[in-house]
Amino acid sequence: MQDSTSPVIIWFRRDLRLCDHPALHAACETGRPVIPVYILDDLAEGLGAAPKWRLGLGLERFARSLEAAGSRLILRRGDVLKVLSDLIRETGAGAVYWSRLYDPDSVARDTRVKSTLKEDGIEARSFGGHLMFEPWTVQTKTGGYYKVYTPFWKMVRTRIVDAPLPAPKTIPAPRTWPNSDRLETWQMGAAMNRGASIVRPHVRLGEQAASDRLACFIDHIVAGYDASRDRPDQDGTSGLSENLALGEISPHRCWAAGMRALQDGKAGSETFLKELVWREFAYHLMHHTPRILTGNWKEDWDAFPWNTDPDTPEAIAWKRGRTGMQFVDAAMREMYVTGRMHNRGRMIVASYLTKHLQCHWQIGLKWFEDCLIDWDPASNAIGWQWSAGSGPDATPYFRVFNPVTQLDKFDPQRAYVRKWLAEGLSKPSQAALSYFDAIPKSWQMAPSDAYPAAIVAADVGRKRALDAYEHRNF
Ligand code: FAD
Repeated sequence: MQDSTSPVIIWFRRDLRLCDHPALHAACETGRPVIPVYILDDLAEGLGAAPKWRLGLGLERFARSLEAAGSRLILRRGDVLKVLSDLIRETGAGAVYWSRLYDPDSVARDTRVKSTLKEDGIEARSFGGHLMFEPWTVQTKTGGYYKVYTPFWKMVRTRIVDAPLPAPKTIPAPRTWPNSDRLETWQMGAAMNRGASIVRPHVRLGEQAASDRLACFIDHIVAGYDASRDRPDQDGTSGLSENLALGEISPHRCWAAGMRALQDGKAGSETFLKELVWREFAYHLMHHTPRILTGNWKEDWDAFPWNTDPDTPEAIAWKRGRTGMQFVDAAMREMYVTGRMHNRGRMIVASYLTKHLQCHWQIGLKWFEDCLIDWDPASNAIGWQWSAGSGPDATPYFRVFNPVTQLDKFDPQRAYVRKWLAEGLSKPSQAALSYFDAIPKSWQMAPSDAYPAAIVAADVGRKRALDAYEHRNF
């Protein structure tokens, strides 16, 4: 039962930060002791290899930030309701606060948790923070939801976004702390195989690093972002997606920085704001049509003759960066080594898989889900459906990216390709070589191999895609 001294539990999930955290802010405002908790439940257990490993790193760093603020991160594993009930019994907590998530599994779990806690007389409150615009607050004139990005952008661009909240000055500690698991025993990196030590140097870990990067991006990069954002051979984007995915920085802070840059006349800042709104739009669609995660958003696409086998030679060549298409292979290897892939690369590899190779977009979505440290359920799903043509606001199916001409346009000096491909080069780059240290030995790939001929040439794949589209029976 709550009284003025009963602790407030903050149940952290994808919000590993102290600054601009509405739930934490509200808990500290009560003046009651605050008990930060992370629960490894089935949903977190089921994450792909790279996002789960990245989450483990994030938790470790966040626990240190809490300790520096005089607090702790209590780690528990199991069914959320059981864990929370145990903690409430052990600590006498009277309230549980958390930041909302929007994917259907989290919503179902959180709804169950909220109603059960309330029935038990515990104050259960969810807060915003993961998004700038709650998905149900953005409506068309007729009260519906948006299916196309541009009108969504026009609707939200002039909205007032909450100003970021400061980090709490102190986080009141309970008289005694409940027991905590040790993070090492959770083995969050178990599925990373040989990749962890290779990907680790590429991780931008934690709130401070994210904040520093935002400042650097605004000072030095955003002015040229309109052009640089399309160049995988340059450091021309914010690189904040992994931090946004785990809530190590809030979108509100990114928005506020982008708005200041806009007022300062920095040319690319509006485009940056638009990209932040793509993330919001992805969540808007996931909220209103959760099927976007699992099936063709345009349901008539169910009749399209996708190849659904993830283990065909073509799908395997795609996953391993051995298609013989330099842009595709470079991007797939970039992802394996860094846990991230440039947006232009994501569009090219997704188009090549779904159009040239005729593989179902879900094969690609699942591979990304396993390999990306910035994996985000909504952005990944909308990205794949957009690329495949099955989504609401999709690139039309007949617009097939040509991976060769795209390279001429966006990697004119082939710096990106040289960075990531080793075969055929007398002095491959360190980055290209590190790919071979990260991949499973069973793939039997070596830098001394000959670079393969294209499994499906650009023009052949384009024709194949257009033929399939023309003969579709819907
Ligand atoms: P910046 O260019 O600096 O953009 C700033 C922020 O805006 C990003 O961090 C991101 O949060 C948001 N953003 C930018 N572009 C998009 C977009 N197209 N859709 C949604 N949000 C966007 N993004 C993820 O965060 N996680 C994913 O799992 C993911 N999967 C994708 C899969 C495919 C097939 C495609 C085509 C795109 C995917 N994206 C995903 C979107 C985009 O590629 C990344 O957000 C972007 O490359 C991240 O780099 P950045 O942080 O430097 O972006």
